[in-house]
Amino acid sequence: MSNEQNFDAVIIGAGVIGNAVAFELSKQGMKTLNIDRNHVSGYGSTSASCAIIRVHYSTFDGCALAYESYHFWKDWMTYLEASEQDELAKFIECGCMIYQTEQNNYLDKVIKRAEELNIPHEIWNPRKIKEKLRIVDTNKYGPVKSATDKSFGSKTGDDLRGSVFFPTAGYVNDPQLSAQNLQMAASKKGAKFLFKSSVKEIVQEKGKVAGVVLENGEKINSKIVVNVAGPHSMKVNQMADVESDMNIKTKALKVEVCHVPSPSGFNYEGEGFVISDSDIGCYSRPEIGNNVLIGSEDPECDERLFVDPDIWDESFSEQWRTQVLRQAQ
Ligand SMILES: Cc1cc2nc3c(=O)[nH]c(=O)nc-3n(C[C@H](O)[C@H](O)[C@H](O)COP(=O)(O)OP(=O)(O)OC[C@H]3O[C@@H](n4cnc5c(N)ncnc54)[C@H](O)[C@@H]3O)c2cc1C
Repeated sequence: MSNEQNFDAVIIGAGVIGNAVAFELSKQGMKTLNIDRNHVSGYGSTSASCAIIRVHYSTFDGCALAYESYHFWKDWMTYLEASEQDELAKFIECGCMIYQTEQNNYLDKVIKRAEELNIPHEIWNPRKIKEKLRIVDTNKYGPVKSATDKSFGSKTGDDLRGSVFFPTAGYVNDPQLSAQNLQMAASKKGAKFLFKSSVKEIVQEKGKVAGVVLENGEKINSKIVVNVAGPHSMKVNQMADVESDMNIKTKALKVEVCHVPSPSGFNYEGEGFVISDSDIGCYSRPEIGNNVLIGSEDPECDERLFVDPDIWDESFSEQWRTQVLRQAQ
């Protein structure tokens, strides 16, 4: 690439978000360039994602955006303007159940938003929950505790109130592939991608953004620079010297996802669905090969491990074991 190229928008990052931005902008005729330090698309936090597609949020805008996106995942090939020959990520529409707990105010806001937006949902009582997923225990174990707490694993009450089930939810089988699918779709619209290149400076002229400088000194001009650098977004904000003006700041948080086999004799992959359980501080979903993925809902009792996204310890910690034990409750 020659020096001093011009683009309508430079997008820092080629994860699922950066590539979706490229696709949408290039559909509008904008000349875009995604720059990523990795060698391929979706190799950042996108590849570590549980890729759960949910339509429940507490704000109207959040739910509306998620429900609109659900339709894109559902008909991914049409959205991408792709064909049967393309290898595409698959959306597994198994549904998502959220337990009604004190911690989430029994989902009052979530139910209200779903009603306002006509998002399909069902209210399940504990009996119905057990009918739908016979391996679950609907007793109360919260508030969430650490695994070393003496009362860990003891129930603290009878049945939880119930749950809300959203059938129009699930997960994507390969989040990295979904980012690559978006790259393919954006490229067909003329979007450009530059890999193995790091942005090291945001150029500003007369108080406005004017482009970026790469690690090799190359300058790329653009009046729009989109920061979709995932866990590095904090660093890009600092680079642009805009962090102090922001009300919502980003920080990289280390999280661990456990990959465990389904309870024996149960077809979790076929019969399970996404579950959000704030009573035990875990979310989970079925995984290919009859496994279960378990993530943390960051309960208050757990220490939050904010890290420098360039220097962090990638080994598993106690969090992994704790999450599996919590899920086993
Ligand atoms: C364990 C885990 C589980 C998750 N589960 C879910 C889930 O179930 N559902 C859900 O919706 N979300 C989930 N998420 C969140 C989701 O993965 C992210 O929100 C999403 O992948 C972010 O995509 P992105 O494109 O913004 O960032 P990324 O995929 O991180 O891409 C950012 C890219 O920017 C590049 N970059 C950074 N700095 C620079 C620079 N200076 N120069 C050049 N390139 C740079 C990086 O190399 C990277 O490829 C999960 C995340 C994790 C970590």
